[in-house]
Amino acid sequence: MTRRPENPEAQGDASPPSVVIVGGGFAGVGCAQELSDAHVPVTLLDRNNYHQFQPLLYQLATAQLAANDVATPLRTLFRKEQTISIKEADIAKVDPESRTVTTTDGVAFSGDYLVLAMGSQPNFFRTPGAAEHSFPLYSLLDAERLRSRMLEVFDAADRDPRLIDQGALTFVIVGGGATGVEVAGALADFINRVLPAEYRDLAGHETRVHLVDHGNALLGPFSESAHEYAAKVLHRDGVRLQMGTAVEEITSSSVRLGNGTVIRTRCVIWAGGLKAAPLASGVGLGQGRGGRLTVEPDLSVDGLPNVFVVGDVANLNGPDGTPYPQLGSVALQQGQWAAKNILADIAGKPRHAFHYHDKGIMAMIGRGAAVAEVGRKRHELHGAIAFASWLGVHAALMSGIRSRVDAFVSWGWDYFSGNRSPGLIDHPDAATIDWTEPEPIDLRESVATPAPRASTDATVPSG
Ligand SMILES: Cc1cc2nc3c(=O)[nH]c(=O)nc-3n(C[C@H](O)[C@H](O)[C@H](O)COP(=O)(O)OP(=O)(O)OC[C@H]3O[C@@H](n4cnc5c(N)ncnc54)[C@H](O)[C@@H]3O)c2cc1C
Repeated sequence: MTRRPENPEAQGDASPPSVVIVGGGFAGVGCAQELSDAHVPVTLLDRNNYHQFQPLLYQLATAQLAANDVATPLRTLFRKEQTISIKEADIAKVDPESRTVTTTDGVAFSGDYLVLAMGSQPNFFRTPGAAEHSFPLYSLLDAERLRSRMLEVFDAADRDPRLIDQGALTFVIVGGGATGVEVAGALADFINRVLPAEYRDLAGHETRVHLVDHGNALLGPFSESAHEYAAKVLHRDGVRLQMGTAVEEITSSSVRLGNGTVIRTRCVIWAGGLKAAPLASGVGLGQGRGGRLTVEPDLSVDGLPNVFVVGDVANLNGPDGTPYPQLGSVALQQGQWAAKNILADIAGKPRHAFHYHDKGIMAMIGRGAAVAEVGRKRHELHGAIAFASWLGVHAALMSGIRSRVDAFVSWGWDYFSGNRSPGLIDHPDAATIDWTEPEPIDLRESVATPAPRASTDATVPSG
């Protein structure tokens, strides 16, 4: 496929064309790094001054890692690259025709090429109360807020055990995909290992962790045996699986399920789905499922060959006819691929259609328990060996963006030995709970129809 760049400078022999990238996630950073290796001037814009490594957010949320283990300042990542200019900038407007983006305070940035890589945001699917009362897990701030809430409910119950009847020790996780399963496993670990040591007056058996999903299997894209393995591990660790039922409403003190169950809780974790970042809807480009911006096979926008969209916000079908999954590895490779197509333009060579090198999918279910389907043939691994693969693949992803692999790998080893980071309640807004009830409910939880599959009434063991 050959595309001609719109800007004559791009073909001239003067200075190379400039590139503006919106978003310093996997896709934006991957693109900037590839371009910087070829000394192309890049302006990289992000509303945060750091790159966040989302696969580790749940470890931050459950106090296993500190913030600086999962986020790296963008200026640190690019401190040696002279052609990359980092700007902390919250973009409010995109004009794809002129390849200009404008910040919330009116500063404009233009380039010969524009790369949009602004990722996703949680999708609450219009569930009443979800946006107001649940804790999503998509950003560093989300993870810190969740950690503050989680620790606060333990502290509150420790101070005043009467609050247990108000749901202080009950957690509800919405969504049984990789994020929901990983959070459930990490929370169960916290309850089973940390609670007895650090909250000695709390009885572990009073704790409840519910995982709710409207489907009938955990870890949807994985194989049947991985579904069963995940259910078995979570069940063993005391997580109550409420499968085949949707969350109908979330209030400040409860969750109502489609099967009639009302669960009293003060901590609801939303892992129910994603949609394109808010900026995508105002760009005026074609949108696919979840509001993702539709791109051509070379990752540029139809009719605007100097505008690329990459990562979670891009909508492109893979060889199986379904959109590429919203994964760090896809985002990193797409960012690098867009850069290669820009470099091809500069060299007067043809562009190429995106091809994803699929290394597999994996999820961690708790200490030493993981599932991995490795390689294109999806060779399946469970348990400690899957955990080792998880560690290896994520270390590779980190080194792909030249991030802190050392801290990550040492965390991986520590994870088996049980070390953890200090659990700080550092977001008072998330930790402030109004324990007065508008309408007291007599039961701590009312369980109606038993879940169709893998449901358990087992309590979380205390040791
Ligand atoms: C909890 C969790 C666990 C995950 N685990 C895995 C995993 O194990 N393996 C895996 O491969 N993938 C995993 N993923 C998915 C993976 O993290 C994403 O697919 C990947 O981060 C997408 O990269 P991206 O660059 O497209 O977007 P992002 O990483 O979201 O980056 C987008 C960037 O754009 C910035 N931005 C957005 N809007 C604006 C704006 N208006 N102005 C300025 N800046 C803006 C944001 O601040 C952000 O830095 C996980 C995701 C989550 C949420």
